[in-house]
Amino acid sequence: MGGGTRWDTIVIGAGPAGMSAALELARLGLSALVIDSAPLPGGQYFKQSTLRAKPPSEEGRSLIAAFARAELGRLMDTQVWGITPEPDGFEVAVYRKSGGERRLWARTLIIATGAYDRPVPFPGWDLPGVMMAGGALTMIKHQGVLPGRRVLLCGTGPLQWVLARHLLEGGAQVVGIVDAAPFPWKALRRMTALMGQGERMREGLGAWAAILRAGVPVHWGKIILRAEGADGVERAVIGRPDGTSTRSFAVDTVCLGYGFQPFNHLARMIGCEHRYVAPLGGWVPLRDDWCETTLPGVFVAGDAAGIQGKDVALLEGRLAGWGAARRLGVDVADDQVKALGAQLRRQRVMAQFLSYVFPYPFDSVPFPVEDDTILCRCEEVRVGDVRRIVREGASTLRMVRMLTRAGMGLCQGRTCADLVCHLLAQETGTPVADIAGPRISPPLFPIPLHGVIGEEAHVRGEN
Ligand SMILES: Cc1cc2nc3c(=O)[nH]c(=O)nc-3n(C[C@H](O)[C@H](O)[C@H](O)COP(=O)(O)OP(=O)(O)OC[C@H]3O[C@@H](n4cnc5c(N)ncnc54)[C@H](O)[C@@H]3O)c2cc1C
Repeated sequence: MGGGTRWDTIVIGAGPAGMSAALELARLGLSALVIDSAPLPGGQYFKQSTLRAKPPSEEGRSLIAAFARAELGRLMDTQVWGITPEPDGFEVAVYRKSGGERRLWARTLIIATGAYDRPVPFPGWDLPGVMMAGGALTMIKHQGVLPGRRVLLCGTGPLQWVLARHLLEGGAQVVGIVDAAPFPWKALRRMTALMGQGERMREGLGAWAAILRAGVPVHWGKIILRAEGADGVERAVIGRPDGTSTRSFAVDTVCLGYGFQPFNHLARMIGCEHRYVAPLGGWVPLRDDWCETTLPGVFVAGDAAGIQGKDVALLEGRLAGWGAARRLGVDVADDQVKALGAQLRRQRVMAQFLSYVFPYPFDSVPFPVEDDTILCRCEEVRVGDVRRIVREGASTLRMVRMLTRAGMGLCQGRTCADLVCHLLAQETGTPVADIAGPRISPPLFPIPLHGVIGEEAHVRGEN
């Protein structure tokens, strides 16, 4: 343990979950430090663009203003790359280009690190012009840049509609929306889930109306089978998952919107127990009613604990703030907790509704991949390499990783670990939930050596 400030709580992530957690901690008089790798607070939903392409909503602006006023420590432009549990707290390893402390210390941790796009492989997915829907949204909303001119959207769920609307408003041609789910008749059976969801409904229906006005065709029950082109995407072929009913489109961009995966790698790194819950986007931490994980003093809130959107993230952040306070010996009124729990249950219904109507399709059907399709882009491992190793007896992610190097590259498996698990599940006939996830080790991101041992030690050749 080094010198420096001892914080009551370090909150990792200044998105909706992290900011609301920090505000509760400050209100209860605890010392909290919030760390985020972005230059400004806001997270994905309330992202503040340094280019001012689109300011956050009124709700976002007032949350960010309250966060700026609160008595808190803030460390932006700073990546957390490792955590070490200690007998009386946690050491947090951070990297900042501008230098400064490399090790911080807190008695409790709130991990609110959000989510990231979920990739799906198919022949040609590594061509320039194939990109993730979340990345495309970020380009348009926050950088004011269109990802392409003739765009096909492939994936499932309403985030595709939101993206289509932004593309249309930006002047792109949306040649179609390909949704793996059948036409959502079954939504009718669960309409009650939409009660009290005015804002989300307005957002979804507004996007849907823009799609209808522009005459964008929607292809239900189809997926992208391949993308073709010489130096970038020129054509995309769609069809049923079994490869029938194909159609081809001339495009320069394909956006993949198969949802997000929780980014809870720091919690997994320190041994918090996780399990695979498909409707929540993959591996999620086991938590109690206060968002506390199986490791006492470590809380996970928001999308990092399962993909449930901004409203759940805001409420879980508050709950995790109270949970951390309680662990530090500060009382929180029971009636407040009960009221928040009731709000949270209502908001979670919406996320359950969406995963019921638009489930991740590849839990039930195989990826449409051929042996020479790239699976791990960092190490250029192909689907056939993994299939061969599995047929020769490899039955775990760890064995596949050791024998093929899949997941050992720059992204440390963030992109391909879930894909390899699905492939393992398909090849061995095992449910994906029963395949053990990857072991996560520090550093979470590639960082320069001087970020670990310090500039002077690096120059002197010490370690
Ligand atoms: C790319 C993307 C685009 C999205 N677009 C939309 C949209 O248009 N509409 C919509 O309804 N929903 C969208 N969502 C979903 C929505 O943004 C989330 O549901 C919501 O923001 C969840 O809030 P959160 O606080 O849990 O996480 P986030 O808002 O994701 O905040 C997490 C924060 O943690 C920080 N962080 C992560 N890891 C580290 C680390 N190791 N060190 C330091 N900081 C770290 C990140 O920089 C980020 O600021 C999007 C999600 C993503 C990933």
